[in-house]
Amino acid sequence: MICDNLTSVNGVLHFAGQNTLSLAEEFGTPLYVMDEDRIRYNCRTYRNALQSSFGPDAQPLYAGKAASFTRLIRIVKEEGLGLDVVSAGEIATAKKAEFPMETAYFHSNNKTDADIALAMDCGVGYFVADNVEEVSAVNALAAERGIRQKILLRLTPGIDPHTYAAVATGKVDSKFGTAIETGQAAEITAYALSCQNVDLAGFHCHVGSQVFDSDVFLRASEIMLEFIAEMRDSLGYTARILDLGGGYGVRYVESDPVLDIAANIEMVAKSVKAKCAALNLPLPAIRMEPGRSIVADAGITLYTAGTVKRIPGYKNYVSVDGGMTDNPRFALYGSVYTVLNAGKLDEPASFPCSLVGRCCESGDILQENVKMPESVCRGDTIAVLTTGAYNYSMSSNYNRIPRPPVVMVSEGGKTVSLAVRRETPEDVTALDL
Ligand SMILES: *Cc1c(COP(=O)(O)O)cnc(C)c1O
Repeated sequence: MICDNLTSVNGVLHFAGQNTLSLAEEFGTPLYVMDEDRIRYNCRTYRNALQSSFGPDAQPLYAGKAASFTRLIRIVKEEGLGLDVVSAGEIATAKKAEFPMETAYFHSNNKTDADIALAMDCGVGYFVADNVEEVSAVNALAAERGIRQKILLRLTPGIDPHTYAAVATGKVDSKFGTAIETGQAAEITAYALSCQNVDLAGFHCHVGSQVFDSDVFLRASEIMLEFIAEMRDSLGYTARILDLGGGYGVRYVESDPVLDIAANIEMVAKSVKAKCAALNLPLPAIRMEPGRSIVADAGITLYTAGTVKRIPGYKNYVSVDGGMTDNPRFALYGSVYTVLNAGKLDEPASFPCSLVGRCCESGDILQENVKMPESVCRGDTIAVLTTGAYNYSMSSNYNRIPRPPVVMVSEGGKTVSLAVRRETPEDVTALDL
């Protein structure tokens, strides 16, 4: 199967050493299930690869927007990763997990004054500043507090999206960051250096997501290092940190490639070291910000099938007890997933259908062109794989549907416990006055 934490035992899907039918029975559906061992394995892969390729100063930061709840952030802390946060809620989660805030990096293209104040008061180590207005606001609020706030500047290296289809956020015209090509990156660097209460620690870029082509990281790091050398020559400033962002891809379907993260990082390191030598630059402390590739394959979602609708001559639908409220990614941008009938893996999957949710919205589709066993019927357990990233974190209460819980499987399947409890209708109405 697409990840080695998935197995078939007598035609029943097992995940992280647990029988998925038993999990659905015990905790109800829809249900997010996460594999703690896999999360730790993915964290270690990045940490070991970065440190062995770039030296002890290198650190991966987990991009919390992929999935953020207290138990998960605690695991990330124990594995020695830093953390990207983007909101008051993610900062609160980090605090609840007693995350060391000096290794937290605050992102967002539009931080409000309230956000900035909160992050400073929580001791967030670094602001990844997106634009001039933000640097100015950070400087002012740091001055009020009598501190010098460390920042990175988020730059767009301007990688051509026609050459690299997966790249979406590193373009010159992105809503994120400040462009190198237009000269604005040089201006914001000079400005940040002039701010008394800002300590410019270095630069950041994030070129895209679900990237399999390491050329993207090679090209981005080259452009960033050339910029760092330019700033040394023109402003006498040498960056201490270079953050290359996140974005490594994961396998959603069999046709997705298997990516060797460690080998990729080693390749990037070789190129970065050679470029630093050529430019006569000291090797900066490298950061990478994986989100998806830490948690995606550590999660699946279990549903119970309801209506199976056959429209002869047209199409078939299998509907489940969740939908776009727990996984909006197909509705948002047509993301592909592997879908299995968890108790019928031994039956041939020959019934073509669309897997749809229960929301009052015709765009509420989890996946098109799915193949199910002919016998698929109400009551079957349906599994959607690789849902650990951008599912729980993107879930909503549309139709006032309570959110599913997150169950954590640990120690090779020996222990199972709730990490986030199921929302109740009372939770949904709790804020109504
Ligand atoms: C989304 C994001 C990440 C994580 O990206 P993945 O594709 O989940 O690895 C990292 N850094 C920044 C700035 C991001 O916006």
